[in-house]
Amino acid sequence: MMGRELTVHVGFDDTDSARGGCTTYLASLAAERLVELGARFLDYPNLVRLNPNVPWKTRGNGALCLRFKLEDDRLGEAVEVLVKLLEKEAVLEDPYTNPALAVLVGWPSVELRRLAMKAVTGIVKVEEALKVAEEEGVELHCLKEARGVVGALAALGETLEGDHTYELIAYRAPQSLGSPRKVDASSVVEMDRLTRPLTFNNLDFEAFRVLITPHGPDPVLYGVRGETAEAVRHASTLIKVEEPVERWTIFRTNQGTDAHLKPATVADAHEHLPVAIKGTVASKPRTIPGGHVVFTLSDGTGNIDCAAYEPTGSFRKIVLALQPGDEVVVYGGVRPPGPSNPKTINLEKLLIVKLTSLRIAINPTCKRCGAKLESMGKGKGYRCRKCGEQYPHAKKTWITKPRKLVETLYIPPPRAHRHLTKPYSRYGREKTGGPLPLAPLSPSQFLWVNPSFKKAP
Ligand code: ATP
Repeated sequence: MMGRELTVHVGFDDTDSARGGCTTYLASLAAERLVELGARFLDYPNLVRLNPNVPWKTRGNGALCLRFKLEDDRLGEAVEVLVKLLEKEAVLEDPYTNPALAVLVGWPSVELRRLAMKAVTGIVKVEEALKVAEEEGVELHCLKEARGVVGALAALGETLEGDHTYELIAYRAPQSLGSPRKVDASSVVEMDRLTRPLTFNNLDFEAFRVLITPHGPDPVLYGVRGETAEAVRHASTLIKVEEPVERWTIFRTNQGTDAHLKPATVADAHEHLPVAIKGTVASKPRTIPGGHVVFTLSDGTGNIDCAAYEPTGSFRKIVLALQPGDEVVVYGGVRPPGPSNPKTINLEKLLIVKLTSLRIAINPTCKRCGAKLESMGKGKGYRCRKCGEQYPHAKKTWITKPRKLVETLYIPPPRAHRHLTKPYSRYGREKTGGPLPLAPLSPSQFLWVNPSFKKAP
């Protein structure tokens, strides 16, 4: 007799290290195993990006969740398979890798959703996460310390019912790992031309750089981001690669949604928080060693430095053209103070709300010869330096200097974006996911495994 079907969510995080691995790859392997065990997926695998400023992250602070239906008598076996997979694939020898797997039966509660929101927009204490797990009946498997529990639980709780995007990630065959990625750049340019704006951040036109390929030792060959699963799948068929693809997986994600940026004041801009603060430029921006541009922002609750770092390229010119008195909203992550810098907002975006008018005084010109006049002293009028004519009653004229900026939103070039940064092309395309479950998915909608690289279970 068939068992009862359960709704199961499995979250995991903190499996990789800077030296290799990738939690999304593990999610792809896990999805494959679950399909083999008869799981019916209720959603694309979810790739949930958490607060990009946390000090514990390896790279992009991503956590993963798989949501599916499964016969209750297969759940024990499924969890066992996933824990074994985690033990096999996680980079356990790295002292900073603390893998965790969280299993929830039923739907995420309000508490879990709240915890997820906090993990995206703030800092969650490990004890807080452990308490929520206990209260919500989440089964936890931690392979080392409990740090990974925060991400694993947050992935369970972020059901992406608000704005969301998709990413198709193609993975490399084991023999290619560590070698340069063989992805044809001109095919990426063509793919971008044919699929934009339904895909985004494929290229950085300012630096002539392909952005879909990473450069590290991880197994990702490329990742294409877009508005729909169909768009990223179509885009991937246009990319020419000259090395084998082991598999690909389509993730539904909060990337490119600005989900991390929360309105705040200077007074509550604590270290590691992502913030959006409205205030007034309080100092003339200056370029500091390293090519970074810094100014002070004031909002009535305090002052804080804001920096456009060197990798933000041409965005620094915008920041450099600000003037004291300009009203702006700064978006970014709060960087802790260091030996040579105070607490600073690392700018991700800048909205210019109101430009102050730049009035400058100029000396009058000589009516006889047209040369500029010079002052004869305070209240004493002007004299022409060239012909000597005097103008005791002449006055300075005030003119409004045109500003190089306009009142709009400025975003650095794509190469400097956080995973969560909403690019220009997504404004006006925000969508709501609606409540889960999505229409039931067939595995072929989100997962492809090259038969030549099928792994032994
Ligand atoms: P990758 O992107 O390559 O998968 P990563 O950048 O996601 O790596 P992790 O190895 O997952 O980095 O490490 C991040 C760690 O920080 C995890 O242990 C996670 O539980 C924890 N963490 C994530 N967000 C928060 C947060 N907001 N508050 C506290 N801890 C967090």
